[in-house]
Amino acid sequence: MADGSTPIALVAPAQRRSRQARVAWGDAVVTVGGGAPVRVQSMTNTDTADIKATVIQVRQLAQAGSELVRITVNTPEAAAAVPLIRERLDQMGESVPLVGDFHYNGHRLLTDFPECARTLSKYRINPGNVGKGDKHDKQFAQMIEAALHWDKPVRIGVNWGSLDQELLTGLMDENGLRPEPWDARQVMYEALVRSAISSARRAEELGMRGEQIILSCKVSGVQDLIAVYRGLAQRCDYALHLGLTEAGMGAKGIVASTAAMAQLLQQGIGDTIRVSLTPKPGESRTQEVLVATEILQSLGLRAFAPSVTACPGCGRTTSTTFQELAKQIDDYLRAQMPIWRSQYPGVEQLRVAVMGCIVNGPGESKHADVGISLPGTGEAPVAPVYVDGKKATTLRGDHIASAFQELVEGYVRQRFGLKAGAAETP
Ligand code: SF4
Repeated sequence: MADGSTPIALVAPAQRRSRQARVAWGDAVVTVGGGAPVRVQSMTNTDTADIKATVIQVRQLAQAGSELVRITVNTPEAAAAVPLIRERLDQMGESVPLVGDFHYNGHRLLTDFPECARTLSKYRINPGNVGKGDKHDKQFAQMIEAALHWDKPVRIGVNWGSLDQELLTGLMDENGLRPEPWDARQVMYEALVRSAISSARRAEELGMRGEQIILSCKVSGVQDLIAVYRGLAQRCDYALHLGLTEAGMGAKGIVASTAAMAQLLQQGIGDTIRVSLTPKPGESRTQEVLVATEILQSLGLRAFAPSVTACPGCGRTTSTTFQELAKQIDDYLRAQMPIWRSQYPGVEQLRVAVMGCIVNGPGESKHADVGISLPGTGEAPVAPVYVDGKKATTLRGDHIASAFQELVEGYVRQRFGLKAGAAETP
């Protein structure tokens, strides 16, 4: 029985040994798997043939922290637009690798539009959508040949919404002969995993190296995703792309994606992730990147932006001042990141606390790098600020928010700017 004589240990995420893929555009190389940091991906929802809209959205996603951006390549017009999108991004200094998402006609588009094939950094192939019957193997091979010709990695991405029906039917028949048949769900898991792995083996037979292949098996149920990826991880050492497909909107999509991916990432499963959120009308597409980065940062796997710890507020915070300040600081820190990332190396490790009253305020503030404890209802209208665990000053009056923001900025300059200054010194 645990009696306090042994320390309670932190359980660090496990590490799965996978092969390492390289997804590159020019000098920009994103390593996936094989000990590389878990990568964040996203996907545009613009019409790829609309070059301007797609360029804008790719850039927004990249600036929000997406390390790979997937675009739909579904028509000749879309395929023709890809090199122009790439060119405009390059002109803007945006080197994020583009991934082409192909279904049904990818074999033709990759052959008919060589500049599209050249300027994409990775091809996503869905084995359930490369053609039926005799055409399946031939068209799959054509896509792999394009990848070999242009030296591109591929993601073999199986999705239960478009699972290879011939494979599934074959497995159902096989299951019927078992003395104790599996339930239908287990047969479906098996079909997903087999479809991905057998397609990857086929790609290797055609000449690809295992390091050029990333696998995914997306489903929309949390427990299904966990089961399928555990099976996939046990049976192969390819790098794995993780995502709950069709996660949904708002809180439901965020919670379901987080619940599934956090469990798998803790087990070391998942080398890249995407959060497939349905944006609310008018909502920015970058929300899915924000959620993905938050998942990785919350698990301690990566750091993307300074974290703001804020208490939820309660009956002691009857005004909205504290909520406004927490939001203002959070928005401000995120908005600075595109510049700060290069100007202040390491700034993503910064921890800021914004607390609502004296109960937990000073304590939590001391744990942060910079923390403020706002006055709760009935408390004196002053806000003590703590820096590196020590009380540094007390703010008062109507401009607490801007004064605190200045203080945080000064702290960032002083702590993280020194490194940048040192690096610039000849
Ligand atoms: S720190 Fe104060 S205001 Fe915030 S939740 Fe706790 S008691 Fe409420």
